[in-house]
Parts: sequence; structure tokens; C-alpha cells
Amino acid sequence: MLVAGNWKMNLGHADAVGLAAEIVRATADLSDEVGVAICPPAVWLDAVAERVRGSEVRLGAQNLHPADGGAFTGEVSAGMLTDLDVEYVIVGHSERRQMGETSAFVAEKVRAAQAAGLAPILCVGETLDERESGDAEAIVLAQLAASLDGVDSADLVVAYEPVWAIGTGRTATPEQAQAMHAAIRRALGERFEDGEDVEILYGGSVKPDNAAELFDQDDLDGALVGGASLDAESFAAIVAAAEASMC
Ligand code: PEP
Repeated sequence: MLVAGNWKMNLGHADAVGLAAEIVRATADLSDEVGVAICPPAVWLDAVAERVRGSEVRLGAQNLHPADGGAFTGEVSAGMLTDLDVEYVIVGHSERRQMGETSAFVAEKVRAAQAAGLAPILCVGETLDERESGDAEAIVLAQLAASLDGVDSADLVVAYEPVWAIGTGRTATPEQAQAMHAAIRRALGERFEDGEDVEILYGGSVKPDNAAELFDQDDLDGALVGGASLDAESFAAIVAAAEASMC
């Protein structure tokens, strides 16, 4: 199980370091069965790395560029992330796909992350129109296949994030999430020898009060949490729900 917090473009330096410290405290007694990662804005990775060092909390980035280096103003490479002890990187988040990031480019990023030893958290998900048209599963599986072009399963994590549930307060029902996760797991199993073991996170308005019923579903291996990860108490409650679901 993995619970990862995506802080997006939020928090100043002091608040980011303070939240990291609170999360370290709040998750100190965690069992080995649940992993916790936080993904602060890139400019605070160094400071947050310092704060989580020696704890159970892992560090993730929100994005990377696939090139090793060069003339890519404003971008951050996989090697720069590993220099800061980053272990995870979110790739293909819908907020970036909506800015024009294609699945082919996302696949390049996944490959670059894996080559550097980072665990990519590959996000896929359908829009509301796509869900209402009844094509959600086919669309998500096509997006997944295109985003995995040339990719292997090393350290791969997939996050199913229905676009209509992100930051809206509207969560997929546990049944909707389970059905999509099962379809994703089947597709991963057909693609990779060990594909059925890839962790599949759910993301989209996960909160302390809906986490338990989501984590009860067979094919949910954790969560990618946006808004609720900005509050240590809420985030820790979601982590606790993940832990309770293992019992
Ligand atoms: C996200 O941004 O990945 C996300 C799931 O956000 P929220 O939890 O706020 O819906």
C-alpha cells in the first residue's frame, strides 16, 4: 500500500518544511506495509528532503523532463531529482495533460524516471464527458497503453485519477474505482510478466471520511491525495485508513 501526497503549487518555504515535519511526526509509528510519500513543489524538494531524512516518509516530485540535461528552460531532470534523494515522481497528471502533454511525451518521462531509478507514479483518467459517454474504460486503457510505450514494469506505480473527481469533492464510488482498477490490473498483467503486482493508486478527492471504503476494494493499493495532503491530520488519517485496511 502507498499513500502519496501531491502538494501541487501550494505552500511557501516555511509552510512546506513545517508540513513535512508534521507528517513525519504523524506517521512515525507506521507499519512496513504502508508506504508514505510527499510530493512538494520542486523548489522545496531540497528543504523537505532534509526534514524527512531518517524517517519513513519518502520524497516524490510532481514532474520531470525526459532529457538528461540541456537547453530546457525551467525544467528539472531525473538526475537532479535523484541528487536530492527523491524516490517517486508523478508523471502524466491530468493537470499537465490538460496543458498539452501527450501520452507519447508521458511515456518518455516514465522511461527517463525508470532509467534514473525513480519510481514513476503514472496518472491516467477519463473526463466527465468520457465517463458519461460510457467509454471510460476503453479511454483509460488506451491512455495507459500509450503512456507505457517502451516502458518496463520496474518500480512502476499507476494512479487512476478520474479527471472529474480531482479537486471537485466528487469521488468515484468504491465500485466505480474498483471496476477501473481491475481493468487496469488486467491490462498490466497482459503487458508485463509481473504486471499484476504493479501498485494501482486511486486519486480524486480522497478524504479521511471516504478513504476506508475505497481501500476496502480488492484492487486499490493506496491513494494519490491532493487537497487533503495539505493538512497533516487529514493526510495521517488517510494513511491510518490504509493501514487499517491491511488488517
Ligand atoms: C491529485 O491532484 O492528484 C488529486 C487527487 O487531487 P484531490 O485529492 O484534491 O482531488
